[in-house]
Amino acid sequence: MAADQTNSLRFGRKAITVEEAQQLILNRAELLPAEAVPLELAHGRRLAQSVIADHPVPHFRRSGMDGYAIRASDSLDAEALRPVALRVTEMIPCGSVPERSVQPGEAARIMTGAVVPEGADAVIMLEMTDKLLAGDGPEGDKVLVRKSMRMGDNITPIGQEIEVGELLLETGRRIGPGEAAILATFGFAEVRVHRVPRVAVFSTGSELLPIEAALEPGRIRGSNSHMLACQIREAGGEPRLMPILPDCPETVEAALLQALDWADILVTTGGVSVGDKDVLVELFQRWDGELIFNKVAMRPGSPSSFGWWRGKPLFALSGNPGASFVGFELFVRPYLKAIQGCACPLPRECTALLDADYGKGSAYPRYVRARTYTEQATLKVAPAGRDKSSIMVSIKDAECLLCIPAGGQAPPRGALVRVLQLAEA
Ligand code: AMP
Ligand code: MG
Repeated sequence: MAADQTNSLRFGRKAITVEEAQQLILNRAELLPAEAVPLELAHGRRLAQSVIADHPVPHFRRSGMDGYAIRASDSLDAEALRPVALRVTEMIPCGSVPERSVQPGEAARIMTGAVVPEGADAVIMLEMTDKLLAGDGPEGDKVLVRKSMRMGDNITPIGQEIEVGELLLETGRRIGPGEAAILATFGFAEVRVHRVPRVAVFSTGSELLPIEAALEPGRIRGSNSHMLACQIREAGGEPRLMPILPDCPETVEAALLQALDWADILVTTGGVSVGDKDVLVELFQRWDGELIFNKVAMRPGSPSSFGWWRGKPLFALSGNPGASFVGFELFVRPYLKAIQGCACPLPRECTALLDADYGKGSAYPRYVRARTYTEQATLKVAPAGRDKSSIMVSIKDAECLLCIPAGGQAPPRGALVRVLQLAEA
Protein backbone atom coordinates (compact mmCIF):
# COMPACT_ATOMS: atom_id res chain seq x y z
CA MET A 1 0.00 0.00 0.00
CA ALA A 2 1.37 3.40 -0.93
CA ALA A 3 2.29 5.53 2.08
CA ASP A 4 0.58 8.63 0.70
CA GLN A 5 -2.63 6.64 0.25
CA THR A 6 -2.59 5.57 3.91
CA ASN A 7 -1.89 9.12 4.94
CA SER A 8 -4.80 10.42 2.93
CA LEU A 9 -7.10 7.94 4.70
CA ARG A 10 -5.71 8.94 8.07
CA PHE A 11 -5.43 12.70 7.72
CA GLY A 12 -7.19 13.78 4.53
CA ARG A 13 -10.63 12.83 5.68
CA LYS A 14 -13.68 14.77 4.63
CA ALA A 15 -16.11 15.29 7.49
CA ILE A 16 -19.80 14.96 6.73
CA THR A 17 -22.63 15.95 9.04
CA VAL A 18 -24.35 13.50 11.35
CA GLU A 19 -27.51 13.92 9.29
CA GLU A 20 -25.67 13.15 6.05
CA ALA A 21 -24.06 10.12 7.64
CA GLN A 22 -27.44 8.87 8.88
CA GLN A 23 -28.91 9.29 5.41
CA LEU A 24 -26.05 7.37 3.79
CA ILE A 25 -26.60 4.58 6.30
CA LEU A 26 -30.38 4.47 5.89
CA ASN A 27 -30.02 4.48 2.08
CA ARG A 28 -28.40 1.07 2.47
CA ALA A 29 -31.01 -0.35 4.82
CA GLU A 30 -32.97 -3.25 3.36
CA LEU A 31 -35.77 -4.98 5.21
CA LEU A 32 -34.88 -8.32 6.74
CA PRO A 33 -37.15 -11.20 5.69
CA ALA A 34 -40.27 -11.98 7.70
CA GLU A 35 -40.88 -15.02 9.87
CA ALA A 36 -43.78 -16.24 11.99
CA VAL A 37 -43.27 -16.42 15.75
CA PRO A 38 -45.65 -17.34 18.57
CA LEU A 39 -47.15 -14.21 20.09
CA GLU A 40 -45.65 -14.97 23.50
CA LEU A 41 -42.17 -14.78 21.98
CA ALA A 42 -42.82 -11.64 19.96
CA HIS A 43 -41.97 -8.99 22.54
CA GLY A 44 -39.63 -6.37 21.07
CA ARG A 45 -39.99 -7.69 17.51
CA ARG A 46 -41.28 -5.51 14.68
CA LEU A 47 -44.36 -6.43 12.71
CA ALA A 48 -43.96 -7.55 9.11
CA GLN A 49 -47.71 -7.20 8.60
CA SER A 50 -50.32 -4.65 9.43
CA VAL A 51 -53.28 -5.57 11.60
CA ILE A 52 -56.77 -4.56 10.52
CA ALA A 53 -59.80 -5.29 12.67
CA ASP A 54 -61.78 -8.18 11.17
CA HIS A 55 -64.44 -7.88 13.84
CA PRO A 56 -65.76 -5.08 16.04
CA VAL A 57 -64.82 -4.74 19.71
CA PRO A 58 -66.94 -5.46 21.55
CA HIS A 59 -68.71 -7.75 19.11
CA PHE A 60 -71.85 -7.89 21.27
CA ARG A 61 -73.64 -5.35 23.41
CA ARG A 62 -71.66 -5.69 26.61
CA SER A 63 -72.69 -4.90 30.14
CA GLY A 64 -70.32 -2.51 31.88
CA MET A 65 -71.76 -3.27 35.30
CA ASP A 66 -72.83 -6.01 37.60
CA GLY A 67 -76.57 -5.40 37.97
CA TYR A 68 -79.81 -5.75 36.04
CA ALA A 69 -80.50 -5.29 32.34
CA ILE A 70 -83.74 -3.33 32.06
CA ARG A 71 -85.76 -1.14 29.71
CA ALA A 72 -84.89 2.44 30.67
CA SER A 73 -88.50 3.49 30.14
CA ASP A 74 -89.55 1.16 32.99
CA SER A 75 -87.38 3.13 35.41
CA LEU A 76 -88.63 6.62 34.47
CA ASP A 77 -90.32 7.21 37.82
CA ALA A 78 -87.88 5.31 39.98
CA GLU A 79 -86.30 7.10 42.94
CA ALA A 80 -84.36 5.90 45.96
CA LEU A 81 -87.45 5.96 48.20
CA ARG A 82 -89.96 5.19 45.44
CA PRO A 83 -88.51 2.12 43.73
CA VAL A 84 -90.06 0.41 40.75
CA ALA A 85 -90.46 -3.36 40.94
CA LEU A 86 -89.50 -5.44 37.89
CA ARG A 87 -89.83 -9.17 37.39
CA VAL A 88 -86.48 -10.99 37.10
CA THR A 89 -86.50 -13.33 34.10
CA GLU A 90 -83.07 -14.91 34.08
CA MET A 91 -79.49 -14.70 35.23
CA ILE A 92 -76.83 -13.95 32.56
CA PRO A 93 -73.29 -14.81 33.63
CA CYS A 94 -70.22 -13.87 31.55
CA GLY A 95 -69.63 -16.15 28.61
CA SER A 96 -73.24 -17.25 28.20
CA VAL A 97 -75.93 -15.92 25.90
CA PRO A 98 -79.31 -14.60 27.11
CA GLU A 99 -82.20 -16.96 26.61
CA ARG A 100 -85.00 -14.41 26.26
CA SER A 101 -85.54 -10.76 25.53
CA VAL A 102 -86.47 -8.29 28.24
CA GLN A 103 -90.13 -7.24 27.98
CA PRO A 104 -91.77 -4.19 29.66
CA GLY A 105 -91.84 -4.75 33.41
CA GLU A 106 -88.96 -7.24 33.29
CA ALA A 107 -85.28 -7.27 34.23
CA ALA A 108 -82.43 -9.77 33.76
CA ARG A 109 -79.70 -10.22 36.33
CA ILE A 110 -76.41 -9.60 34.48
CA MET A 111 -72.65 -9.64 35.19
CA THR A 112 -69.96 -7.23 34.02
CA GLY A 113 -68.84 -8.27 30.53
CA ALA A 114 -71.94 -10.36 29.77
CA VAL A 115 -74.22 -10.04 26.74
CA VAL A 116 -77.06 -7.53 27.21
CA PRO A 117 -80.30 -9.27 26.17
CA GLU A 118 -82.57 -8.03 23.38
CA GLY A 119 -85.16 -5.55 24.56
CA ALA A 120 -82.96 -4.17 27.37
CA ASP A 121 -81.41 -0.76 26.76
CA ALA A 122 -79.79 0.01 30.12
CA VAL A 123 -78.03 -1.77 32.94
CA ILE A 124 -78.60 -0.59 36.48
CA MET A 125 -75.83 -1.31 38.92
CA LEU A 126 -76.53 -3.78 41.66
CA GLU A 127 -76.04 -1.17 44.41
CA MET A 128 -79.02 0.82 43.08
CA THR A 129 -81.37 -2.15 43.45
CA ASP A 130 -82.82 -4.44 46.07
CA LYS A 131 -83.85 -7.96 45.56
CA LEU A 132 -87.41 -8.91 46.54
CA LEU A 133 -87.76 -12.60 47.05
CA ALA A 134 -91.14 -13.82 45.90
CA GLY A 135 -90.99 -16.98 47.87
CA ASP A 136 -92.84 -19.75 46.06
CA GLY A 137 -95.34 -17.45 44.35
CA PRO A 138 -96.06 -17.69 40.62
CA GLU A 139 -94.50 -14.31 39.93
CA GLY A 140 -90.86 -15.38 40.61
CA ASP A 141 -88.13 -13.00 41.96
CA LYS A 142 -88.55 -9.27 41.71
CA VAL A 143 -86.03 -6.49 41.85
CA LEU A 144 -86.60 -3.00 43.19
CA VAL A 145 -85.02 -0.39 40.92
CA ARG A 146 -84.11 2.76 42.86
CA LYS A 147 -82.81 5.02 40.08
CA SER A 148 -84.11 6.36 36.82
CA MET A 149 -81.87 5.12 34.02
CA ARG A 150 -81.31 6.59 30.58
CA MET A 151 -81.12 4.60 27.37
CA GLY A 152 -77.63 3.22 26.85
CA ASP A 153 -76.52 3.55 30.47
CA ASN A 154 -73.78 1.02 31.31
CA ILE A 155 -74.01 -0.71 27.94
CA THR A 156 -71.00 -0.74 25.62
CA PRO A 157 -72.39 -0.76 22.08
CA ILE A 158 -71.01 -3.06 19.40
CA GLY A 159 -67.83 -1.56 17.90
CA GLN A 160 -67.53 1.25 20.43
CA GLU A 161 -63.85 0.50 21.03
CA ILE A 162 -62.86 -0.79 17.61
CA GLU A 163 -64.80 -0.82 14.36
CA VAL A 164 -64.42 -3.41 11.61
CA GLY A 165 -61.78 -2.37 9.10
CA GLU A 166 -59.87 -0.07 11.46
CA LEU A 167 -56.08 -0.10 11.00
CA LEU A 168 -54.85 -1.09 14.44
CA LEU A 169 -51.14 -1.76 13.98
CA GLU A 170 -49.03 -0.63 11.09
CA THR A 171 -46.22 -2.74 9.70
CA GLY A 172 -42.87 -2.05 11.37
CA ARG A 173 -44.39 -1.35 14.74
CA ARG A 174 -42.55 -2.74 17.73
CA ILE A 175 -44.51 -5.24 19.79
CA GLY A 176 -44.92 -4.14 23.40
CA PRO A 177 -47.68 -4.75 25.94
CA GLY A 178 -50.39 -2.78 24.12
CA GLU A 179 -49.58 -4.34 20.75
CA ALA A 180 -49.60 -7.83 22.29
CA ALA A 181 -53.05 -7.15 23.74
CA ILE A 182 -54.38 -6.15 20.31
CA LEU A 183 -52.79 -9.14 18.60
CA ALA A 184 -54.27 -11.49 21.20
CA THR A 185 -57.72 -9.89 20.90
CA PHE A 186 -57.68 -10.54 17.17
CA GLY A 187 -56.50 -14.12 17.43
CA PHE A 188 -52.89 -13.87 16.33
CA ALA A 189 -51.45 -16.96 18.02
CA GLU A 190 -48.59 -16.44 15.58
CA VAL A 191 -47.46 -13.13 14.27
CA ARG A 192 -45.32 -12.20 11.28
CA VAL A 193 -42.28 -10.18 12.29
CA HIS A 194 -38.97 -9.30 10.71
CA ARG A 195 -36.08 -11.59 11.45
CA VAL A 196 -33.79 -10.56 14.31
CA PRO A 197 -30.69 -8.81 12.95
CA ARG A 198 -27.50 -10.71 13.75
CA VAL A 199 -24.73 -8.41 14.84
CA ALA A 200 -21.10 -9.45 15.34
CA VAL A 201 -19.35 -7.16 17.83
CA PHE A 202 -15.58 -6.78 17.84
CA SER A 203 -13.37 -4.75 20.12
CA THR A 204 -9.95 -3.99 18.71
CA GLY A 205 -6.88 -2.97 20.68
CA SER A 206 -3.87 -4.89 21.94
CA GLU A 207 -4.34 -3.26 25.35
CA LEU A 208 -7.70 -4.98 25.85
CA LEU A 209 -8.13 -7.91 28.19
CA PRO A 210 -11.09 -10.26 28.30
CA ILE A 211 -13.31 -9.47 31.28
CA GLU A 212 -12.37 -12.60 33.19
CA ALA A 213 -8.65 -11.74 33.07
CA ALA A 214 -6.69 -10.20 35.96
CA LEU A 215 -5.46 -6.68 35.31
CA GLU A 216 -1.96 -6.27 33.95
CA PRO A 217 0.19 -3.16 33.69
CA GLY A 218 -0.89 -1.07 30.72
CA ARG A 219 -3.89 -3.21 29.94
CA ILE A 220 -7.60 -2.74 30.62
CA ARG A 221 -10.64 -4.98 30.42
CA GLY A 222 -12.61 -4.28 27.28
CA SER A 223 -16.03 -2.88 28.13
CA ASN A 224 -17.29 -1.68 24.76
CA SER A 225 -18.45 -5.03 23.44
CA HIS A 226 -20.59 -5.70 26.48
CA MET A 227 -22.05 -2.22 26.41
CA LEU A 228 -22.83 -2.56 22.71
CA ALA A 229 -24.35 -6.01 23.20
CA CYS A 230 -26.89 -4.43 25.54
CA GLN A 231 -27.59 -1.62 23.08
CA ILE A 232 -28.02 -4.17 20.27
CA ARG A 233 -30.47 -6.22 22.33
CA GLU A 234 -32.44 -3.10 23.19
CA ALA A 235 -32.63 -2.33 19.49
CA GLY A 236 -34.03 -5.78 18.73
CA GLY A 237 -30.80 -7.37 17.49
CA GLU A 238 -28.93 -10.51 18.47
CA PRO A 239 -25.37 -9.63 19.42
CA ARG A 240 -22.50 -12.08 19.21
CA LEU A 241 -19.46 -11.05 21.20
CA MET A 242 -16.41 -11.94 19.17
CA PRO A 243 -12.90 -12.43 20.55
CA ILE A 244 -10.91 -9.26 21.17
CA LEU A 245 -8.78 -8.38 18.17
CA PRO A 246 -5.16 -7.24 18.45
CA ASP A 247 -3.89 -4.25 16.49
CA CYS A 248 -2.94 -6.46 13.56
CA PRO A 249 -4.60 -5.73 10.22
CA GLU A 250 -4.35 -9.26 8.86
CA THR A 251 -5.94 -10.76 11.95
CA VAL A 252 -8.70 -8.17 11.91
CA GLU A 253 -9.44 -8.74 8.24
CA ALA A 254 -9.60 -12.51 8.64
CA ALA A 255 -11.82 -12.33 11.73
CA LEU A 256 -14.27 -9.87 10.21
CA LEU A 257 -14.51 -11.83 6.98
CA GLN A 258 -15.27 -14.99 8.87
CA ALA A 259 -17.96 -13.25 10.90
CA LEU A 260 -19.71 -12.20 7.69
CA ASP A 261 -20.82 -15.83 7.29
CA TRP A 262 -23.17 -15.45 10.25
CA ALA A 263 -23.66 -11.76 10.79
CA ASP A 264 -25.93 -9.31 9.00
CA ILE A 265 -23.93 -6.45 10.48
CA LEU A 266 -20.41 -5.95 11.76
CA VAL A 267 -19.69 -3.47 14.53
CA THR A 268 -16.14 -2.74 15.63
CA THR A 269 -14.72 -0.36 18.19
CA GLY A 270 -11.28 1.17 18.21
CA GLY A 271 -8.63 1.57 15.60
CA VAL A 272 -10.29 4.23 13.46
CA SER A 273 -8.27 7.28 14.49
CA VAL A 274 -5.08 8.60 13.03
CA GLY A 275 -2.58 6.59 15.08
CA ASP A 276 -0.06 4.29 13.43
CA LYS A 277 -1.71 1.23 14.88
CA ASP A 278 -5.23 2.04 13.85
CA VAL A 279 -6.16 -1.26 12.31
CA LEU A 280 -9.52 -0.37 10.83
CA VAL A 281 -7.86 2.40 8.84
CA GLU A 282 -5.42 -0.22 7.58
CA LEU A 283 -8.27 -2.55 6.74
CA PHE A 284 -9.98 0.11 4.64
CA GLN A 285 -6.79 0.28 2.59
CA ARG A 286 -6.51 -3.39 1.90
CA TRP A 287 -10.07 -4.68 1.70
CA ASP A 288 -12.37 -5.17 -1.28
CA GLY A 289 -15.17 -3.22 0.40
CA GLU A 290 -16.53 0.28 -0.10
CA LEU A 291 -15.70 2.97 2.47
CA ILE A 292 -18.77 5.20 2.59
CA PHE A 293 -17.57 7.70 5.18
CA ASN A 294 -14.71 7.89 7.65
CA LYS A 295 -15.26 11.18 9.40
CA VAL A 296 -18.35 12.79 10.88
CA ALA A 297 -18.59 16.33 12.22
CA MET A 298 -19.42 15.35 15.78
CA ARG A 299 -17.98 15.04 19.25
CA PRO A 300 -17.36 12.45 20.46
CA GLY A 301 -16.59 9.95 17.75
CA SER A 302 -15.54 12.05 14.76
CA PRO A 303 -13.57 9.15 13.19
CA SER A 304 -16.72 6.96 13.14
CA SER A 305 -16.62 5.11 9.84
CA PHE A 306 -19.07 3.17 7.76
CA GLY A 307 -18.33 0.72 5.01
CA TRP A 308 -20.08 -1.83 2.86
CA TRP A 309 -18.41 -5.19 2.55
CA ARG A 310 -19.69 -8.14 0.55
CA GLY A 311 -23.25 -6.87 0.79
CA LYS A 312 -23.14 -6.10 4.50
CA PRO A 313 -22.49 -3.01 6.59
CA LEU A 314 -19.47 -2.43 8.78
CA PHE A 315 -19.85 0.18 11.48
CA ALA A 316 -16.40 1.09 12.76
CA LEU A 317 -16.91 3.08 15.94
CA SER A 318 -14.32 4.96 17.95
CA GLY A 319 -12.73 3.04 20.80
CA ASN A 320 -13.41 5.52 23.54
CA PRO A 321 -16.40 4.20 25.48
CA GLY A 322 -18.37 7.47 25.27
CA ALA A 323 -17.77 7.66 21.53
CA SER A 324 -18.79 4.03 21.01
CA PHE A 325 -21.98 4.59 22.95
CA VAL A 326 -22.94 7.74 21.05
CA GLY A 327 -21.87 6.28 17.70
CA PHE A 328 -24.16 3.31 18.25
CA GLU A 329 -27.12 5.54 19.10
CA LEU A 330 -26.66 7.84 16.13
CA PHE A 331 -25.73 5.29 13.48
CA VAL A 332 -26.19 1.63 14.39
CA ARG A 333 -29.53 1.80 16.21
CA PRO A 334 -31.29 3.63 13.34
CA TYR A 335 -29.96 1.03 10.88
CA LEU A 336 -31.12 -1.85 13.10
CA LYS A 337 -34.54 -0.28 13.43
CA ALA A 338 -34.83 0.37 9.70
CA ILE A 339 -34.03 -3.20 8.63
CA GLN A 340 -36.67 -4.43 11.09
CA GLY A 341 -39.25 -2.25 9.39
CA CYS A 342 -39.39 0.83 11.62
CA ALA A 343 -40.68 3.73 9.52
CA CYS A 344 -39.01 6.46 11.62
CA PRO A 345 -35.71 4.93 12.69
CA LEU A 346 -33.85 8.09 13.73
CA PRO A 347 -33.79 9.02 17.42
CA ARG A 348 -36.91 10.80 18.58
CA GLU A 349 -36.27 14.43 19.37
CA CYS A 350 -37.64 17.01 21.72
CA THR A 351 -36.40 20.34 23.03
CA ALA A 352 -35.54 21.30 26.57
CA LEU A 353 -33.93 24.19 28.43
CA LEU A 354 -30.21 23.76 28.88
CA ASP A 355 -29.45 23.59 32.60
CA ALA A 356 -25.66 23.81 32.38
CA ASP A 357 -22.94 26.25 31.41
CA TYR A 358 -20.89 25.35 28.39
CA GLY A 359 -19.16 28.64 27.61
CA LYS A 360 -16.73 27.95 24.82
CA GLY A 361 -18.21 26.29 21.80
CA SER A 362 -16.67 23.60 19.65
CA ALA A 363 -15.95 23.21 15.95
CA TYR A 364 -18.25 20.20 15.77
CA PRO A 365 -21.71 19.61 17.26
CA ARG A 366 -21.47 17.79 20.56
CA TYR A 367 -23.69 14.92 21.63
CA VAL A 368 -23.60 14.95 25.40
CA ARG A 369 -24.86 12.06 27.50
CA ALA A 370 -27.60 13.69 29.51
CA ARG A 371 -30.78 13.37 31.49
CA THR A 372 -33.98 15.40 31.45
CA TYR A 373 -36.20 16.44 34.32
CA THR A 374 -39.04 18.88 34.89
CA GLU A 375 -38.87 21.92 37.10
CA GLN A 376 -41.89 24.17 37.41
CA ALA A 377 -43.54 22.44 34.48
CA THR A 378 -40.52 23.05 32.27
CA LEU A 379 -38.43 20.31 30.70
CA LYS A 380 -34.75 20.82 31.45
CA VAL A 381 -31.69 18.92 30.34
CA ALA A 382 -28.25 18.59 31.91
CA PRO A 383 -25.23 16.35 31.41
CA ALA A 384 -25.53 12.97 33.12
CA GLY A 385 -22.01 13.24 34.50
CA ARG A 386 -18.50 13.85 33.26
CA ASP A 387 -18.74 13.67 29.53
CA LYS A 388 -15.23 13.22 28.14
CA SER A 389 -15.34 10.58 25.46
CA SER A 390 -12.88 8.41 27.40
CA ILE A 391 -15.17 8.35 30.44
CA MET A 392 -17.23 5.22 30.77
CA VAL A 393 -18.79 5.52 34.21
CA SER A 394 -21.40 8.18 33.31
CA ILE A 395 -22.89 6.17 30.42
CA LYS A 396 -25.14 4.37 32.89
CA ASP A 397 -26.84 7.65 33.79
CA ALA A 398 -27.48 8.77 30.21
CA GLU A 399 -31.17 8.88 29.37
CA CYS A 400 -30.81 11.04 26.30
CA LEU A 401 -28.26 12.93 24.23
CA LEU A 402 -28.15 16.68 24.51
CA CYS A 403 -27.03 18.42 21.31
CA ILE A 404 -24.72 21.41 21.57
CA PRO A 405 -24.52 22.93 18.10
CA ALA A 406 -21.16 23.85 16.60
CA GLY A 407 -19.99 27.43 16.95
CA GLY A 408 -17.67 29.81 18.74
CA GLN A 409 -20.02 30.10 21.68
CA ALA A 410 -22.15 27.33 23.14
CA PRO A 411 -25.79 28.10 23.93
CA PRO A 412 -26.12 29.84 27.32
CA ARG A 413 -27.84 28.29 30.33
CA GLY A 414 -31.59 28.52 29.75
CA ALA A 415 -31.33 28.23 25.96
CA LEU A 416 -33.57 25.80 24.13
CA VAL A 417 -31.56 22.81 22.90
CA ARG A 418 -32.30 19.63 20.98
CA VAL A 419 -32.55 16.40 22.93
CA LEU A 420 -32.36 12.98 21.33
CA GLN A 421 -34.17 10.23 23.15
CA LEU A 422 -32.48 6.90 23.67
CA ALA A 423 -35.46 4.70 24.48
CA GLU A 424 -36.90 2.41 21.82
CA ALA A 425 -40.23 3.16 20.18
P1 AMP B 1 -8.82 3.76 19.92
O1 AMP B 1 -10.06 4.29 19.28
O2 AMP B 1 -8.52 2.35 19.51
O3 AMP B 1 -7.68 4.68 19.71
O4 AMP B 1 -9.10 3.71 21.47
C1 AMP B 1 -9.32 4.90 22.18
C2 AMP B 1 -9.34 4.64 23.65
O5 AMP B 1 -10.43 3.81 23.99
C3 AMP B 1 -8.11 3.94 24.18
O6 AMP B 1 -7.78 4.51 25.44
C4 AMP B 1 -8.58 2.54 24.35
O7 AMP B 1 -7.84 1.86 25.34
C5 AMP B 1 -10.01 2.69 24.72
N1 AMP B 1 -10.75 1.52 24.28
C6 AMP B 1 -10.71 1.00 23.06
N2 AMP B 1 -11.47 -0.09 22.96
C7 AMP B 1 -12.04 -0.26 24.17
C8 AMP B 1 -12.93 -1.22 24.73
N3 AMP B 1 -13.39 -2.23 24.00
N4 AMP B 1 -13.29 -1.08 26.00
C9 AMP B 1 -12.83 -0.06 26.74
N5 AMP B 1 -11.98 0.87 26.28
C10 AMP B 1 -11.56 0.77 25.03
MG1 MG C 1 -6.96 1.11 19.67
